[in-house]
Amino acid sequence: MSETDAHRSPDVKRQSSPGVSRRDMLKLGIGVAVGASAVGGLAYLGGSAPPATERVQSGAGGSKWVHPAQYYRKMSKGSVQCTLCPKECYVGRNGRGYCDVRENRDGEYYTLVYGRAASVNIDPIEKKPLFHVVPGSPIFSFATAGCNLECKNCQNWQLSQSRPEDLRALDLPPAKLVERARGSGCSLIAGTYNEPVIFYEYMLAVAREGKKNGVRSTIISAGYINREPMLELCRELAAVKVDLKSMRDEFYQSNCEGTLKPVLDTIELVREQGVWLEIVYLVIPGLNDSEEEIRDLARWTHEHVGADVPLHFSRFHPQYRLKHLPPTPYETLDRCYEIAREEGLHYVYVGNVPDHRGANTYCPKCGKLLIRRRLYQVAENHVRDGRCEFCGQSIPGVWS
Ligand code: SF4
Repeated sequence: MSETDAHRSPDVKRQSSPGVSRRDMLKLGIGVAVGASAVGGLAYLGGSAPPATERVQSGAGGSKWVHPAQYYRKMSKGSVQCTLCPKECYVGRNGRGYCDVRENRDGEYYTLVYGRAASVNIDPIEKKPLFHVVPGSPIFSFATAGCNLECKNCQNWQLSQSRPEDLRALDLPPAKLVERARGSGCSLIAGTYNEPVIFYEYMLAVAREGKKNGVRSTIISAGYINREPMLELCRELAAVKVDLKSMRDEFYQSNCEGTLKPVLDTIELVREQGVWLEIVYLVIPGLNDSEEEIRDLARWTHEHVGADVPLHFSRFHPQYRLKHLPPTPYETLDRCYEIAREEGLHYVYVGNVPDHRGANTYCPKCGKLLIRRRLYQVAENHVRDGRCEFCGQSIPGVWS
């Protein structure tokens, strides 16, 4: 997740100390409390009040949220192999995959979070950030528990590193979620805060249901997904924001428990499929902020997806397992901005820095200011029918 797209529920029950990952705790055999006192909160800012807590019924949780998984193959002795993401977990009978939201039940594989929304909010779209998608729009945002990565800098770790049964949830099956979005005045939906890849079947169904009802869907994702499921999802989406965490595989391995190449492949796939794409890069002091790496990032973006794909640099704030690091210095972000512009990218942004020129959109032809943003508000917008109001240059994006 990017720094900007924080889920806003402060009361989701912490499962572990941020200094020790939940997965480390499980490895160490330290139990995670589940029960009345450990049931977390749920953010709901979308109009009508949420229903009372829906208590988890048992082990894997309420059966109403259990749904057949779409991408897996059956193996010997009742095992399965999940083929949704590059981890390709082998899951023994009655076990779960790494992300903790997919379970083998007697040789059949299931997601445990279909319709199980652990966080729901209405956000400004600028918070995702998606800067070239209907600026100023409210976007209906939802999440579940779980993730297929574990980033040491995760800002939503209370969600991403929880098991479904550790969190309270709203029962929001796809049709109901779309109806809530429409009722809240949102024509856009985002799977966000945790990783939409791991609630794939839910996200796909929401996007399809939304399409039928005039509501477009987006995902805010780390892009760690296999090609075939991503291809299928792309057909239903209006926009994808990918958090590209580093240009170095070592960083992915040491900081995220992932690998770089699948993420780059996803970025290229989204672009090839003609789905609107924006990239966010969280700049972490000393870990992924060298001039060489930033230049590699800008060059790769230009060469593989083109100068028109927005690249956002986001300011890091110390959290989760990287509390010992300082926030990103402003000068570093200035330098990132300059490098990306030097490398010819047309739409370079800087997030989490008040009043930075990188919060605004400028016309790549005449240089005039097109969209002025203050925090998550749009103060001025001079894009008319997808063109610069001053010189007529086409500005790529989803503008209406
Ligand atoms: S989606 Fe989950 S279970 Fe499937 S391969 Fe990825 S981490 Fe493993």
